Amino acid sequence: MRGPRARGGRELSPRTASSRPSVEYPQAPLSEELGIDLPAGTRWGICLSHDVDHLSLREHLVDAFLPRYVLALLRQNLTRGRFRLGRVLDSFWGLLLAACGRDRWDVVDDLLAAERRAGVSSTWFVAVRRGLGISYRGAARERLVGRLRDADQEIGLHGQSPTDASALAAEAEQLSREAGTPIVGLRMHYLRLTRSVFDGMERAGMRYDSTVMNRSRLEPDQIELPGPRLVRPGLLEIPLHVMDSTLFSVTGLGLDFDQARDYMRRLAARAADEGKLVTINLHPNTYSHQTPEMRAWYDALLADVTARSDVFVSDFRALLPRIAIA
Ligand SMILES: [Zn+2]
Repeated sequence: MRGPRARGGRELSPRTASSRPSVEYPQAPLSEELGIDLPAGTRWGICLSHDVDHLSLREHLVDAFLPRYVLALLRQNLTRGRFRLGRVLDSFWGLLLAACGRDRWDVVDDLLAAERRAGVSSTWFVAVRRGLGISYRGAARERLVGRLRDADQEIGLHGQSPTDASALAAEAEQLSREAGTPIVGLRMHYLRLTRSVFDGMERAGMRYDSTVMNRSRLEPDQIELPGPRLVRPGLLEIPLHVMDSTLFSVTGLGLDFDQARDYMRRLAARAADEGKLVTINLHPNTYSHQTPEMRAWYDALLADVTARSDVFVSDFRALLPRIAIA
C-alpha cells in the first residue's frame, strides 16, 4: 500500500523519523508483553492522553520559548512545497491576541467539553517543574489541577527529572498533594527515559509510565504497536504510539488534516484486525484555533472512535485494571 503524500506530491513512504529517534527501554523489562482484558464486544483499544506543555501563549511572551515557537512556525509553513503565508500571518495574529488577553492556547475547557460530549476521558500529564519550554507554574497549575479534578479526569505527572530519582519522586509527591489524590502515572517531558526514572517512580509508589516510543516505522500499516510490559515489580511501561506532532510536524510526517484522519482510520483498521491497543498523545495547546487542522483531527478522531462499537476508548486509569499482570 502506498504511504500518504505530503502537499506537493512528496512521497512519505517508507519513512522513519530520523530527527525523532525511538525511545527505548532503559533496562530489560521483567516480562513479555502483557495481555489486555478488553470489555465484552470490543476487539481493540485506544487510550487517550495529554501532555500539558503549555497552558497559554501569554506565559511565553517574555521567555526564550517565543523565538523557538516563531522559528518552528516558519519552518512548518514556509518550506519547499508548503507555502502557507496566511497561516503564518494568522499565527502572528494569535500572538497579538494573546498579548491582549484573548489566548488561543487557553483551551483546557474546550478540550474537556469535547471529550465530555464524546463520552470519553483522558489522562492529563501535568508538570510541576519548569524548563525545556514549560513555563506554567504555581497558581496556573493549581487552577488546571482543580479543573481536571472537577471534571474527574486522571492526573499524571509530566516528569522533568530524568537523572534524579529523588527529584522525580518529589515532583510526584507535590502533584499528589495539589491533586488531593495519589499520582500513579508518568510520561517524561521530551520522552527522556532512564533507569533513574523508574527508581523515582518506585520511591513515589507510582504504577505506570508511558514514555517508551518506537519510532523506527511510522506508516499506519507498519508502525509498531507494542503492548504493556512489567519493568519493576508493580511498575508497568505502557508504550506511546501516536503523538500529534509526529503526524503534523514537518520534522515528522508533515500530514494535513485529510491525511492525518486517513492515517488514524488505517491504523484503527489494523489495530482492530490485530486486537491491539493504540495509545495517543495530544498536547492540549494544539487543540487550538492556532493550529485548526490539529483541532479538527482530534475532533474527527473522537467522532470516528465513538461511532464504532468494537473499540474500548479509555484513559490509563480505566486501562490499568485490564492489564493482565502475571
Ligand atoms: Zn512535554
